[in-house]
Amino acid sequence: MSISETMPTPDGRRAAGREGWVKIIGLGPGSEALITPEASSVLREATDVVGYVPYVERVAPRPGLTRHGSDNREEIRRAEQALEMAAAGRRVAVVSSGDPGVFAMGAAVFEALETGQPDWQTLDIQVLPGISAMLAASARLGAPLGHDFCCINLSDNLKPWALIEKRLRLGAEADFAMAFYNPRSRSRPEGFARALDVLREACGLDRPIMFARAVSTPEECLRVVTLGEATPGMADMRTLVMVGSSLTRRIPSARNEAGEWVYTPRSVV
Ligand code: SAH
Repeated sequence: MSISETMPTPDGRRAAGREGWVKIIGLGPGSEALITPEASSVLREATDVVGYVPYVERVAPRPGLTRHGSDNREEIRRAEQALEMAAAGRRVAVVSSGDPGVFAMGAAVFEALETGQPDWQTLDIQVLPGISAMLAASARLGAPLGHDFCCINLSDNLKPWALIEKRLRLGAEADFAMAFYNPRSRSRPEGFARALDVLREACGLDRPIMFARAVSTPEECLRVVTLGEATPGMADMRTLVMVGSSLTRRIPSARNEAGEWVYTPRSVV
């Protein structure tokens, strides 16, 4: 699926600058307040916005801006399209949610650059950081990533399940706190249940696990339980899941939406 939609400029022309560029930006986890000022300024200057449909729809239409929304699995093609348009003089914002370097379009653009037209390598390309879901989620819950941590994408669309399971076990063995992206989807209902089994075996039943859904949006929902209490249905594709390390602590709090604070102390003594 691919949708392109242009709002004409008042005099009917399509705006294009003399020198094109590609700026790879993140729109943060959902709230307008968590989009960086420099990402907002790129969106004001761009002639084209390229990305997965729901992210492109987060950019308000305006005269002179063409929004190109495409399907989730078309990342390399979308990146090539962005580079082609910039080579033709357009100012292209490539949008992802969160941060563009975390399981998002940043790497796809560089893959397309490396394998694409040689002249694309002279293009003006910039990556601008955004607030990744794990940072927004951990801020809501306290500081669960306060000591060493790792993050793992639980989707096996782009890697074999055996590698995910190996990384879960090694992350647990290294005693990292862990953040999990893409925990569960309708097309992959089994994976997260298997991940929970691996984590229970490696970390024990009392370890805290956090489910942060739709952080910074009106549907936000935070939940902290133990691995023994966790069920696969607690996560979906809008959820960021975190598991504490052996040092992670819980403090009851009537003031926090989750009913408690969770933190991992900075020192291991
Ligand atoms: N580049 C993005 C991650 C894209 S992968 C980033 O840096 O955040 C998509 C996954 O991110 C989702 O499946 C979910 O695990 C997580 N995610 C994105 N937005 C979220 C939000 N508002 N609340 C909780 N998790 C979110």
